[in-house]
Amino acid sequence: MTAVSSVLRVKAYIDRLYRDSHYAGMKTKRSLQRLLLCVAGGAVLAGCASVATRLPGITLPALVKERASQEQLAFAEMDRLHTRLWDVAYPVLRDNAELCPKTRPDIGAVTYSLKTFPKDMREAAARELGAKDTPTIRRIIKGGQAQKAGLKVGDAFLDVRGIPMTATSKAMRAMLEDGPAKIAVRRGENTFDVTLTPREICDYGVKLSMSSTVNAYASGKTLILTSGMMNFTQSDDELALIVAHELAHNTMGHIRKIVGNMILSGFATRYTREFESEADYVGLYYLVRAGYSPDKTPAFWQRMALNGPRSVGRAKTHPTYPDRFLRLEAGLAEIKAKQALGQPLKPNFIDADK
Ligand SMILES: [Zn+2]
Repeated sequence: MTAVSSVLRVKAYIDRLYRDSHYAGMKTKRSLQRLLLCVAGGAVLAGCASVATRLPGITLPALVKERASQEQLAFAEMDRLHTRLWDVAYPVLRDNAELCPKTRPDIGAVTYSLKTFPKDMREAAARELGAKDTPTIRRIIKGGQAQKAGLKVGDAFLDVRGIPMTATSKAMRAMLEDGPAKIAVRRGENTFDVTLTPREICDYGVKLSMSSTVNAYASGKTLILTSGMMNFTQSDDELALIVAHELAHNTMGHIRKIVGNMILSGFATRYTREFESEADYVGLYYLVRAGYSPDKTPAFWQRMALNGPRSVGRAKTHPTYPDRFLRLEAGLAEIKAKQALGQPLKPNFIDADK
């Protein structure tokens, strides 16, 4: 079989398959074509002598089935991590509202839509998670107002025009501005009103990035943790430590200051090491205020050191792990002393008025 006839046969097969509704779940005809060309390509390439061994053959239906099965597993894992991240992060956002420069009225529900996902994941997100074009509830926070009002995953909040809105939209914030508000909710074909009493929480988003890299970021508006970081943490206390650290980057305006410093210094210096130490210090207060145990947090940096021996001795943008370990221990001693004296748990500012 020549390469040209292979491709023509593949194309005819795709046209036939695509008419079959069983494959309607595939993203686009093009994605199916790519998939099939990979299978057929193996045969064509074998003719081009690219590999020396006879590769085991696979069939397209088996490949389509396996792809669907792996997508299902991947989405289930993403959903598990997203639930854990919100369960752990919510108390940090809620119990530090007093110290956050920006807060929002919150009703204990996280909404999402297909737009939440990268384009190439949307079809699978619709199939596996039931995501829609318009926002619906993805997560109900334990003990929050949405749970008390009996709201469920999949419900949609409606604005005054009856259009679905997100839990953090301007329309929702306006409705909740003056305290308890009656909000229309759509569940399937039905629409009903619920009265929700908001509470102020720190106004920052929380996002999960599916990446095996052990990392976390603050964007100024959002906290982003990788799945690699989530899996590296061994307890909710450790996960909350990372959330609190990234929250501190946002509340202390580090991103804005770093950009400012870069412009002033012609990109030469950014003082990021000091900001990292400050995020560790302020984050420790956020962690304790949210009810998490800080006792094992210095040890977390010892475990991080096991991951990257280079950062033990030197680091360009981050403090070394020994530096972080010792400062966290000192911060912890400061917090325990305040607790023993019954003093308010607030970081010590240089400008004591803050
Ligand atoms: Zn940091």
